[in-house]
Amino acid sequence: MGHKCYFCDNPDIKDVKTGYRGIPDYYNCPRCGIVNLHMDTADDMLSERFREKDKQIISIWIRNEYEKSNRKKPSKRLTLEDLDKIIKQYSPLNPLEKMDNALLIIEKASGYVGQQINISYGLDYPYYHCFGGGELHSILSLLSQEGLIKVPDQANPHNHLSISAKGYQKLSEIKKPGKDSRQCFVAMWFTTEMSEAYDKAIRPAIEFIEEGGTSPRFEAVKIDNVEHVNDINDEIIAQIRRSRFMICDLTGYRGGVYFEAGFAYGLGLDVIYTCREDWTKEEILKDNDGNEIKTLRDKNNNEIQIKKEGVHFDLAHRNRIEWSPDDLEDFRIKLQNRIRAVIF
Ligand SMILES: [Zn+2]
Repeated sequence: MGHKCYFCDNPDIKDVKTGYRGIPDYYNCPRCGIVNLHMDTADDMLSERFREKDKQIISIWIRNEYEKSNRKKPSKRLTLEDLDKIIKQYSPLNPLEKMDNALLIIEKASGYVGQQINISYGLDYPYYHCFGGGELHSILSLLSQEGLIKVPDQANPHNHLSISAKGYQKLSEIKKPGKDSRQCFVAMWFTTEMSEAYDKAIRPAIEFIEEGGTSPRFEAVKIDNVEHVNDINDEIIAQIRRSRFMICDLTGYRGGVYFEAGFAYGLGLDVIYTCREDWTKEEILKDNDGNEIKTLRDKNNNEIQIKKEGVHFDLAHRNRIEWSPDDLEDFRIKLQNRIRAVIF
């Protein structure tokens, strides 16, 4: 009894579950969504550990994760480390980004074209990356002034609002992938023998500085150098969506790499393929004595055909840069030239 939300102070929390010390570590907050904390984290929440602004950031994060699951499941049980990471990694949206984001949310909430929806300033502001109901009111007013939403009453743009034709036009612009992005997503095999190729060739090729320039035009992102709180697949999808183009290294015949390449291709991103020369063609394997091995047995004694796979035939006909680990400088130059030629 008498509990309130750790992050937004709302007293109307429901479905409260408490840990063995009687401190809530799970509840449904009308503002934040389902809050799911590690027991030790819940203990610490009572100690006023976080500043007001930080609590708002956590509220925004939790609510957005909850909405991403279509209000079905809570985030994983968050530890203090997770909360610190969420605060550290949060980059606030600028006003134009908030308007775009709001339009996307309104579209998602609309069941059909022209449907009128209602928004609650007081309960929905974290979903809209706002730091209070007043800010959400201002964002909706701006959308209305720009003609992106239709509202019956200008003073109360949260009531019976719907997306206008201009709003739908804007939405189709917003959804073009990587439009203004400088990010290049690198899909590759994660192994120590590949990290040298990334450090000495791939990354420098992406982050080159034009003559007379002071900073690189593009920035390389691979998923192990982005710390993630989310499910890794969500994070990969989000990072690819945010990217201007992709470098896809096919060395090692990795399923994950092919998945990422297919997703980027479907989004219409430019993808540049590379592959270490020893992995381009298929090869019969041999044991230590030089005898060919074509089959092995699994635990049910079924025969499994094996070979070292080359580039999959779906991609075999695509232009790619083949490289040798003995000449990474050559790889860097070829890749850099390709980027300069095809990415604008
Ligand atoms: Zn809350």
